[in-house]
Amino acid sequence: MAATTDLSAPPADLAALRTLLDGEHVEIRNLCRAWLSDADNAPRPDLPMEEHRTQVLKWARELADAGETARGFPVEFGGRGEVGGSIAGFETLAFGDLSLLVKCGVQFGLFGGAVLHLGTRKHHEAYLNDITSLRLPGCFAMTETGHGSNVQQLATAATYDAATGEFIISTPDAAARKDYIGNAARDGRMAAVFAQLIVGGEPRGVHALLVPLRDDDNNVLPGIRIEDCGSKLGLDGVDNGRIWFDDVRVPRDNLLDRYATVSEDGVYESAIENPTKRFFTMLGTLIQGRVSVCGASISATKVALTIAIRHAEARRQFGPPGEDEVVLLDYRTHQRRLLPALAKVYALHFAQEDVVARLHHVFTADAELDRERRELETLAAGLKAVATWHATATIQECREACGGMGYLKGNRFAALKADTDVFTTFEGDNTVLLQLAAKNLLTDFRDQLGELDPLGTAGFYAGQVFETVAERSAMREVLTRLADDLLPGRDDLQDLADREVQLELLRWRSSHIRSGVARRLKGGIDAGREPFAVLIDCQDHLIAAARAYVDCFVLERFAAAVDRCADPGSRVLLDRLCDLYALSTIEADRGWFQEHGRLSSTRSKAVIKAVNTLCAKLRPHAVGLVEALGVPETSLGDAAAVARAEPR
Ligand SMILES: Cc1cc2nc3c(=O)[nH]c(=O)nc-3n(C[C@H](O)[C@H](O)[C@H](O)COP(=O)(O)OP(=O)(O)OC[C@H]3O[C@@H](n4cnc5c(N)ncnc54)[C@H](O)[C@@H]3O)c2cc1C
Repeated sequence: MAATTDLSAPPADLAALRTLLDGEHVEIRNLCRAWLSDADNAPRPDLPMEEHRTQVLKWARELADAGETARGFPVEFGGRGEVGGSIAGFETLAFGDLSLLVKCGVQFGLFGGAVLHLGTRKHHEAYLNDITSLRLPGCFAMTETGHGSNVQQLATAATYDAATGEFIISTPDAAARKDYIGNAARDGRMAAVFAQLIVGGEPRGVHALLVPLRDDDNNVLPGIRIEDCGSKLGLDGVDNGRIWFDDVRVPRDNLLDRYATVSEDGVYESAIENPTKRFFTMLGTLIQGRVSVCGASISATKVALTIAIRHAEARRQFGPPGEDEVVLLDYRTHQRRLLPALAKVYALHFAQEDVVARLHHVFTADAELDRERRELETLAAGLKAVATWHATATIQECREACGGMGYLKGNRFAALKADTDVFTTFEGDNTVLLQLAAKNLLTDFRDQLGELDPLGTAGFYAGQVFETVAERSAMREVLTRLADDLLPGRDDLQDLADREVQLELLRWRSSHIRSGVARRLKGGIDAGREPFAVLIDCQDHLIAAARAYVDCFVLERFAAAVDRCADPGSRVLLDRLCDLYALSTIEADRGWFQEHGRLSSTRSKAVIKAVNTLCAKLRPHAVGLVEALGVPETSLGDAAAVARAEPR
C-alpha cells in the first residue's frame, strides 16, 4: 500500500520548522538538549529508588553548579531575569528523566518561587543565592492530608507569640500533617510552610513562613517529624514526604511578608484588606509552577510521539497476498491514532509559547498588570488541564501503538506513563483548575460588557449583573444563527479548510457555552437557590466552557504560528497540521455542533472525511514532523533505536 504523497507542495525545511518551534529561547533549549545528549545524563529506568534519588540530586547539583538553575531569578541575586527562558529550559529538560525535572521544579520553582514572590528583600538577600545554587535544598509545604485542592482550609497553625517575637508552628491533628511534599523525605533543609496565621488570637488566613527542617548534617531538627511517602506510581527519584510540626518556633522575620506584615508587638497589617483576595493574590504569584508543568507535559508527549511515529514508520504487519507487509503508519487507523495527537501537540506548543511570553511580561513589568494577570491565570489553569490530559491519553496511545515493544521499560513508556500521570493532579487538580478558569471567564465576560464588579466572583454569585449578559448574548446568538442560515454552500467540504471557518466554529462554541452557563447560574440564583448548589448543578457546564475556551485559544495561537512561518514548504505543512488540529477538535465534538445547528449531518460527515484526507496527506511527513520537535536521541530509549535499525 503506497502512502499518499503530496508532490504539489514545496519540500519542508525541517531546520526552519525547528527554528520556529524553538522560538526566542533557542539558546537555552539547545543547551539543555546538549546536556541531555550526554549518555551519563540519559534516563536510567532500572535504578532502585534510593539510587535514583541520589542520581537525581547529583544531576540537580550539576545543573546548579553550571548556573543554569538561577536563570529565572533577578540579576541582583545571581540570576539573569529570564523568566521565559527558564521555563523553556525546564520544558526541554522534560525530554529526560522526569524525576530530575520535578526535583528541580520543587527546589527552584516552588521553594525558590515562594521566597522570591511571597518574601521581601530580607528573605531574598538571606536565601536566594543558596536556593538557586542548591546549597539550601528546600520544600514547598502547602498540601495537607486533609486538604489539597481547597488550600484555604489548611489546618497547620502559625501562632504569633509577641512575648518572644516568634511564630509557633503546629500540626493540630492527623489530617493537618503536610503530605506528598517534594524534597521532604531526604534532602530538604528548610520549607516554605503554608499555615493559618493567628495574631493576637485572631485568624488571618493562610500565609507562608520559612521553617528549618534539618541541620547542616541533615539531622531532622527538634519538634519536626518527617516520614517518607515511599515508593509512588512514578517519580521515584523525588523524595516526597510527610511533615508534622510540634510547636516549632521560628523568628518573626521568617514570615514571607510581601502581602502582610506582623509587627514586633503583634499588629497585623496588609494592603489587601479582603482575606480571600489576599489569599488568591498570593497564590497567583506562584503560577509559574503551573505553566512549567504544562510545558513539561507537552515535552513528554513529544517524546512519546517521536518514539511511536518512528516505530510506526519501520514496523511492518500484514499486507496484500504475495507482497511486502505494510508499514504500520500506512494504516489509516494508525494515522488516526497518532497524527491528530501530533497536530495537537504542535498546537499546544504554540499556545504554551504564548502563555510563557505573557508570564514573562506580567512578572517582569514594572507596573501591576491586573487584567493581564487574570487572563494569564485563566489560560495557565485551562491549558495545564488540557495539555496534561493530552499527555496522559497520548502516551497511552503511543505505548499501544508500539505493541509489545512499548511495554518494555527500556523504551521509556513505563516511565513516561508513570511520571506524567500526576501532572493532572499537582500544581492544581485539572477538574478544579477548569472550574477556576471558567469562573474567571465569566468575570471576563462581564468585563467585556462593561458590567464588572472588579472584585469578581462575590458580586457574581450575588447574581445582580447577569441579566444584561444573558439577554445580550442570547440576542447575539439568534442573530448569528439567522445570518448563518442564509449563508450558501454550508454543506461544502471546501469551507472546512478555511481557517476563518474553523476559528469561527470554535469561537462560537466557546461564547455559546459561556453565555449558556451564565444564564443557568443566573436563573438558579434568581430562583432563590443557594449559590453553591447552583454552582454544583452547573459544574459540567463550567468545565465545558473552560475547555471550549482553551480549544479556541490553542487554535488561534497555532494559526498565528502558521502565519509567521517564513519557510514556504514548512508553512504549507504546518498549515495542514493546523487544519488537522482544528478539524479533529471539531470532529471530537461534532455531536455538539450538530445539536446546536452549526453542522448539518452532511457537513458533519464531511469533517470525518476531511480528517482522513489530512491524515493521508500528512502521513509522508510524520517522521519529519517529529524530527523537527528536537527530542534528543538519548531520550528515546531502546525502541527508537530498534526502529532506526529495522529495514523498510
Ligand atoms: C507526587 C506528588 C507530589 C506532590 N508534591 C507536592 C509538593 O511538593 N508540595 C505540595 O504542597 N503539594 C504537593 N503535592 C500535592 C498535590 O498538589 C495535591 O495532591 C493536589 O493539589 C490535589 O489535592 P488532593 O490530593 O488533596 O486531592 P483532592 O483535592 O482531594 O481531590 C481529589 C479529587 O476530587 C476532585 N475534587 C476536589 N474538589 C472538587 C470540586 N470542588 N469539584 C469537583 N471535584 C473536586 C478532584 O478533581 C480530584 O479528582 C504532591 C502530590 C503528589 C501526588
